[in-house]
Amino acid sequence: MNFVPKPNDIAGIIEADRAHVWHHLSQHKQYETSDPPIMIEGKGLRIWDAKGREYLDAVAGGVWTVNVGYGRESIANAVRDQLVKLNYFAGAAGSEPGARFAQKLIEKMPGLTRVYYSNSGSEANEKVFKMVRQISARHHGGRKSKILFRERDYHGTTIAVLAACGQPQRAEQYGPFPEGFVEVPHCLEYRNQYPDAEDYGLAAANAIEDVILREGPDTVGLLCLEPITAGGGVITPPKGYWERVQEICRKYEVLLHIDEVVCGLGRTGTWFGYQQYGVKPDFVTMAKGVASGYAAISCTVTTEAVFEMFKDNPSDPMSYFRDISTYGGCLAGPAAALENMRIIEDEGLLANTVSMGERLDGNLRALMEKHRVVGDVRGKGLFYGAELVADRTTKEPLAEAKVAAVVAKCREHGVIIGMTNRSLPGLNNTLCLSPGLIATPDDIDTITSAIDRALAEVCG
Ligand code: PLP
Repeated sequence: MNFVPKPNDIAGIIEADRAHVWHHLSQHKQYETSDPPIMIEGKGLRIWDAKGREYLDAVAGGVWTVNVGYGRESIANAVRDQLVKLNYFAGAAGSEPGARFAQKLIEKMPGLTRVYYSNSGSEANEKVFKMVRQISARHHGGRKSKILFRERDYHGTTIAVLAACGQPQRAEQYGPFPEGFVEVPHCLEYRNQYPDAEDYGLAAANAIEDVILREGPDTVGLLCLEPITAGGGVITPPKGYWERVQEICRKYEVLLHIDEVVCGLGRTGTWFGYQQYGVKPDFVTMAKGVASGYAAISCTVTTEAVFEMFKDNPSDPMSYFRDISTYGGCLAGPAAALENMRIIEDEGLLANTVSMGERLDGNLRALMEKHRVVGDVRGKGLFYGAELVADRTTKEPLAEAKVAAVVAKCREHGVIIGMTNRSLPGLNNTLCLSPGLIATPDDIDTITSAIDRALAEVCG
């Protein structure tokens, strides 16, 4: 660590922060009596706060972002070199790093051909919603405009994407929302919604078909799903689910949008989460891991067939996608993304994610044997959740305050983990883990040992 905190530095930073910064996702009352957390420096998976405390970050920057770890000089240099050469030109023009990154990305995504740049996951998702509404207007007389989203999924923070939010506490008090968004049921097998089903995956997917039939297939334009639900509780799909979802979308000509904002760029051990399930999407969106937090960039990726639907018709001035994102023209994003992708490839981080994911899975299952409070363990690659319950038989969720206490204890023991926090009434009971893809066996064991200790301290 280069930063050696001095008492004056710390006091000054904390005072300025407390006086002027409005933190994301925070109840600020707590900072009247305790100091706000302020991170100063990071290297690999380690991060240091303003008081000089070291943590092992098991959540890649808090929200599944820093896939290649902190302190990557080669990304900083790539960004610097690009900014000095050309920092920006409006997104309506092309650029060298934009063209190169799009080409590399498309190589990893057979069947998809077009990349639209913007800055955040929310924005990338909203672009899809706009495209689908415009396809409906241009090709279906405005009728096929409904957007289906799934209970417990999250697609971002703006009003339009909150209209497609399956986590009620995130949307509460921010309405009214735009029309034409319809929820379909979640697919979490542990919280069995179809007790009589012989094939759970089929039943969960068929519930989507029921919604399409109820709404009228000619009114439904898009189905938007996370490949593995992230903040809604790390929900891995049941067997056969995705195959049936794909069939249903084809049958009713509903475009399929996979939100890879969390799973994209290696988190599950393949480049994208949907590639675990053999799905062929019409749209894929991505953000966090695209540049691992070194620059703001998101991508909306689609097929040539979708692109063709926007082919400019000179006699119709409304015929193209009339959208721009100012910072979609900032070249720090694709420059960082190119180097980020090179690191994932050259350091073999997909393979590491698979093997470290197996270790994490094994360690978490051992915790489940040891602690009755761990009701379910699920995930893929370096993306895991452990659902905590007060009672294994009834599956009554452990109280949110206790789950938060486990997270806080881990932090006391030097490991930062996450949880489904204030998003699902009564169900904010899943611990969330997503270390950087560079994790070592020692890192994985340190993470699960801290959870083991915290569970013993909080739950006995
Ligand atoms: N989609 C998913 C699955 C997410 O988890 C998030 C953020 O956590 C978003 C979209 C929104 O991304 P952003 O915060 O970059 O707008």
